[in-house]
Amino acid sequence: MSNHLFDAFRDSISAPERTLMETDDGRSIRYGDMLARSAQLAQALKHFGVEPGDRVAVQVEKSPDCIFLYLACLRAGAVFLPLNTAYTLTELGYFFGDAEPRLVVCDPARAGDIAPLAQASGAVTATLGRNGEGSLTDYGAQQPPNFDDVARGPDDLAAILYTSGTTGRSKGAMLSHENLASNARVLVEQWRFTGEDVLIHALPIFHTHGLFVATNVTLMAGASMLFEQKFDASRIVSLLPRATVLMGVPTFYTRLLQQEGLDAQAAKNIRLFISGSAPLLAETHKAWRELTGHAILERYGMTETNMNTSNPYEGERRAGTVGFPLPGVSLRVADPDSGAALARGEAGMIEVKGPNVFCGYWRMPEKTKAEFRSDGFFITGDLGIIDADGYVHIVGRGKDLIISGGYNIYPKEIESEIDALAGVSESAVIGIAHPDFGEGVTAVVVRASASQITGAEIVGAIAGRLAKYKHPKQVIFVDELPRNTMGKVQKNLLRDTYKGLYG
Ligand code: ATP
Ligand code: MG
Repeated sequence: MSNHLFDAFRDSISAPERTLMETDDGRSIRYGDMLARSAQLAQALKHFGVEPGDRVAVQVEKSPDCIFLYLACLRAGAVFLPLNTAYTLTELGYFFGDAEPRLVVCDPARAGDIAPLAQASGAVTATLGRNGEGSLTDYGAQQPPNFDDVARGPDDLAAILYTSGTTGRSKGAMLSHENLASNARVLVEQWRFTGEDVLIHALPIFHTHGLFVATNVTLMAGASMLFEQKFDASRIVSLLPRATVLMGVPTFYTRLLQQEGLDAQAAKNIRLFISGSAPLLAETHKAWRELTGHAILERYGMTETNMNTSNPYEGERRAGTVGFPLPGVSLRVADPDSGAALARGEAGMIEVKGPNVFCGYWRMPEKTKAEFRSDGFFITGDLGIIDADGYVHIVGRGKDLIISGGYNIYPKEIESEIDALAGVSESAVIGIAHPDFGEGVTAVVVRASASQITGAEIVGAIAGRLAKYKHPKQVIFVDELPRNTMGKVQKNLLRDTYKGLYG
């Protein structure tokens, strides 16, 4: 029967003996293995009571079996719902209560704690360990390697993915088969993926970047992955000669830049370095180019929309920008209040529409309604500018916009100036409640190693470049910025820490 997304993956397989993954513990997994294992796990899902439309909540370590489980969910018509491996029991309790999964799949080591929680929300528990051990796979291993895929159309739900929780509580984004299929297809084409590509996959697979961008694109191209349990900079350098593409968050690139052995020779086999999930500093882009000869291709997306924009494969990959809207994606920069499109060069809310855009937040109809315009555009919450050449620049999140003395201040502009100073490694500019100004511009700065730069020197250095109202009223030095697993700076934590700064 026809199963919209899985059929598209199956149709991309040129031969079952082609390699899909090589793992860091030396296993080689072929496309034929993937077909067999996902069929067996689809039967296991049925055995544990999963019916089409049911949610399957999954908190397991990264492993090939977790990818097969995702595919098994597609084939069984279930909704895959991966959860960050860092979530505590309290957090899991919230997600189980919110998502009401039929089945919870967890690591065998945590089953004792998780099973009662799952049961409290009406779910059964099965286990899957990092090395493929557990009750789910035990049952699956006894089953024949084929499965009658459940019929699923383009609009049926494929997954619920929770957002990273950078700005508040995570929201469950409902993604359809076509949301995922359309985006994977466009990315294969835009980034020129073929069956010959070998992608270094060192991202977590509970997030859209590692799960949908990296894995779906690989599957849609019939390509293969070097599947790494975690990011290890020296290992990545050693893998470069065997790969053709690397996808990473900006911290991958900053860490790799400090790694011995990274140079043009080491990167000679790579045709494409891609970055996303958080802003890539223009400096990193430049340093990478100088060292390896490659211009990193930066793209922009979010859990709710998959990918929205990308720098071009051919043509200028402009540092500090996220490129152009992908084919099929309409993107506008709008007045945050009215939604009216603004002229090029004006900063406003980024809004998008297209087959990539999700079907709404799980069980949050009011929130869903509030985030869509009447003409169907989704309000991303990110502020941006489209420049004269059409490149999209992200200037910060709406929630991070600073309003000081009645002026709108975009943190990114100030951060870029501060980051460019010798003696500064990176910065985060935030607004803190201020009795006179409403909010006071505050810079939280990480010094470069051995640097003694002071707050007065920083403000002095940018004074000639930025209007007075944008100057930080205080500069705070820290050893590092708080980041979540995807390398995103958690400005809400910073705002909380310094909330009493101005009395
Ligand atoms: P939450 O919505 O729960 O607060 P989150 O927005 O961080 O968390 P994700 O969906 O993982 O959750 O992240 C999407 C966001 O990441 C985008 O809205 C944008 O702010 C940021 N982002 C993604 N790619 C880029 C990029 N290339 N440059 C700048 N920001 C980016
Ligand atoms: Mg978000």
